[in-house]
Amino acid sequence: MDFVCPNCHKRFATDPGAEQIACASCGKPMARTQQVSQILETWYWPRRWYRDVPKPSLNFLLEMLWTADGQGEKLFTAVAPPNVNYQSFVHQVTRAIMKGVDAGWAQLEVPEDPFADNPIYKLSYLDSEKFADAVTALFPNVDWDETITVEEPLAEEVKG
Ligand SMILES: [Zn+2]
Repeated sequence: MDFVCPNCHKRFATDPGAEQIACASCGKPMARTQQVSQILETWYWPRRWYRDVPKPSLNFLLEMLWTADGQGEKLFTAVAPPNVNYQSFVHQVTRAIMKGVDAGWAQLEVPEDPFADNPIYKLSYLDSEKFADAVTALFPNVDWDETITVEEPLAEEVKG
């Protein structure tokens, strides 16, 4: 598919499933979050007129992935950050995971056919200690006596 380089804004074609994409013009490697965002846009393009197909976003996809099966509530209860509501908690953790995807401690797998009707994305924590550290850093007012445990997220479908 065609990607647009966030650095030099030139268009280039490459395999969307590649582990690491680099711009054909300037050579700059593309961040994983950029790669998946552009794949989601390309997926959405032919479906943009369907009223029942919401535009997918990377942020929402990651949120769905890590909070699935009650994991969001479970982590919220375990961390119990003072004066932070669940929604704000989810928002902050999602942003931390987004950074983790680019930093490499979280892995967001591109589906085999990312342009199928309902492509399934998978998120895994390659380094759950780093995930715990990232969550700890978000909420400095928490008394971190107990170690938080992180369970592997499930796969999520982008609905077409
Ligand atoms: Zn470039």
